[in-house]
Amino acid sequence: MSMQAWVIGNWKQNPATNHDVNALLDDLLTAVNTEEQVVKNSCRLMVAPSCIHLAAVSARLKDTSVLCAAQDISAHSANTGAYTGDCSAQQVADAGATWTILGHSERRQYHQETHESLLQKLTHALTQNLGVVFCIGETQAQYDDKQTLAVIDTQLSVVKDLLAQQPELAASLSERLIIAYEPVWAIGTGKVPTVAEVSAMHRHIKQTVTGFAESLEAMTVLYGGSVNADNADSFAADPMIDGALVGGASLKADSFLMIANAFS
Ligand code: PEP
Repeated sequence: MSMQAWVIGNWKQNPATNHDVNALLDDLLTAVNTEEQVVKNSCRLMVAPSCIHLAAVSARLKDTSVLCAAQDISAHSANTGAYTGDCSAQQVADAGATWTILGHSERRQYHQETHESLLQKLTHALTQNLGVVFCIGETQAQYDDKQTLAVIDTQLSVVKDLLAQQPELAASLSERLIIAYEPVWAIGTGKVPTVAEVSAMHRHIKQTVTGFAESLEAMTVLYGGSVNADNADSFAADPMIDGALVGGASLKADSFLMIANAFS
């Protein structure tokens, strides 16, 4: 870890009820307040609740050091339109989110996200002043076929195309875009790549985006995939790993804060 780290909780389609969301937030805010210095000085924290809970969660996180992100936004319009079931960048920003996750492998897998739709989403998010946590990663079959680098390069080319369309974004993009390297085979499985594998991939990602624009040399690159309180220290010890995107372990405040402490 080379700079101020990020630890981001992706709550996915959890918790089930408003009551449970509030209980998780109670625990999280109690722990954050207890460890305020760690969180304020060394590690930035963010959580991404489901869209239905976004406004309530962001209202409770207002005036705390924990940021709130959406898990996705509409590709079709940055603001309004006849797009049943979608939530736009403007709507999630109005609900209090300051960031959004984009390109999570579960969205790519179950919602057929494409290069084009992700480019649209990235553009809409930045138009509405949302920061973006852009997820990339190879499947087990691609890993076994030694296709990881090719897959990563193709997924990262969305950023290259964004800059081709709007070169003026380059100067500030490393403050508004975070890359999360998440091997699909490590998500929710308990299987993790070695720290050396993650480190090499992060080096490759940083070099690749720096090739798009020199200003992206400072890009934050997180690791995601079965990070937990037991293995976080080993990832945090590597200077190429700037933090973690955490799924399952973010649903318990104590394990989430233990991961944050590892990166502090
Ligand atoms: C994720 O879904 O982004 C993730 C990293 O999940 P988990 O930590 O549960 O593997």
